Amino acid sequence: MSKVVKFGGTSLADAGQFKKVYDIVKSDPERVYVVPSAPGKRFKDDIKVTDLLYKAYNANTEAEMHMVFAQIKERFTDIIEGLGLDFSLDEDFEIMRKDFENQIGEDYAASRGEYLNGKLLAYYLGYEFIDAKDVIFIDEHGNYDISKTERHLTRKLKSVKNAVIPGFYGSLNDRSGKIKVFTRGGSDVTGSIVAKYGKVDAYENWTDVSGFLIVDPNIVKNPSVIETITYGELRELAYMGASVLHENSIFPVKNEGIPINIKNTNHPEDPGTMIVESTCHKPSHVITGIAGKKGFATVTIEKEMMNSEIGFGRRVLQVFEDYNLSFEHMPSGIDTMTIVLNTDDFIDKEQNVVAGIHRAVQPDSIVLESDLALIAVVGRGMKASRGIAARVFTALANQKINIKMIDQGSSELNIIIGVRNVYFEDAIRAIYNEFFND
Ligand code: ASP
Repeated sequence: MSKVVKFGGTSLADAGQFKKVYDIVKSDPERVYVVPSAPGKRFKDDIKVTDLLYKAYNANTEAEMHMVFAQIKERFTDIIEGLGLDFSLDEDFEIMRKDFENQIGEDYAASRGEYLNGKLLAYYLGYEFIDAKDVIFIDEHGNYDISKTERHLTRKLKSVKNAVIPGFYGSLNDRSGKIKVFTRGGSDVTGSIVAKYGKVDAYENWTDVSGFLIVDPNIVKNPSVIETITYGELRELAYMGASVLHENSIFPVKNEGIPINIKNTNHPEDPGTMIVESTCHKPSHVITGIAGKKGFATVTIEKEMMNSEIGFGRRVLQVFEDYNLSFEHMPSGIDTMTIVLNTDDFIDKEQNVVAGIHRAVQPDSIVLESDLALIAVVGRGMKASRGIAARVFTALANQKINIKMIDQGSSELNIIIGVRNVYFEDAIRAIYNEFFND
């Protein structure tokens, strides 16, 4: 067995956190490849090193740049001294200072937090340091170059037993050799890529929570942790705004059948959440998780005998396509069809779309509404159980919440409910209490 372990910014924010990381890595010989983020927040209003790097690079004056630069250096010096290491990053800082002055690129600047942290962690653990610029290749849109990365990373990982590979960055996949970063939070993606090409058995993603929570803790106090979730369920919840992992971190490991285990650096004894392709583990509840988002608009089109007019739906959707709008859901009745979409995307184009629909299908009426919130109730356990929808609707009815829309995905993995924005939090609490407060 072998594992990739990725540590997020809060797990490496200071010397105390580095010690925890050391113990975690050394307590299990299967933890062979380590992917660090840059040092994150030590306390609530602290600033992440990556944010400081962006700030230094974009400073208005050289004096301001040097001031922020000094703050960054201090973060690393504190860690080195706190660990009592005979190690220096002075030379790297000198190179960086010149590169910053020469404005060699914002991505390069942003990547330095992971680069320096990787070097430091490799020294501390006694592991080889592999610079991500030599093994991970990223295109200009921020997607990793599969074939080039496979070639370089596989070969390199085969030649080492243990290594630290910094997260978040790689090289542009052209001849420039420039540094390119993933989008923010991208160390998760690096961890996943290293897991794939390192051909390991598991990808442990260490953070500051004990797993993926059933529901947003800002809405429900102290919700439980999901023990096991499938990639499909995770996608449904993440799409609805629940976040633990960078969304692009799923794809590389999913296709290899490598499970992801979300773990808590501050409570390594907690089992965390297992994210798997499929499982025979019976979920402890029929519902795996609940997530939702506010801010949707609806376009309801009415036309008598719509159901028998061939091509009606296509012509309506063509209008949305013409205005480059993607829609979320499309509930329909005999003579009505509703398109649900993001209000922010839609608002500036609404009158054009209304005119476009009139031209395309000559409806009897078009009604626009804009205060819809969507809630996804997700669970692989729903397929085999009866009465789930009834329980959701009863819970909402008991709270006097009117349901404006219902949509059950054909995979029977989720039920989507639309309520008015003002009822959003109450609706989530009502559903949570129905299924989890037993
Ligand atoms: N340090 C980067 C960020 O703050 C990447 C990461 O932490 O995954 O976004």
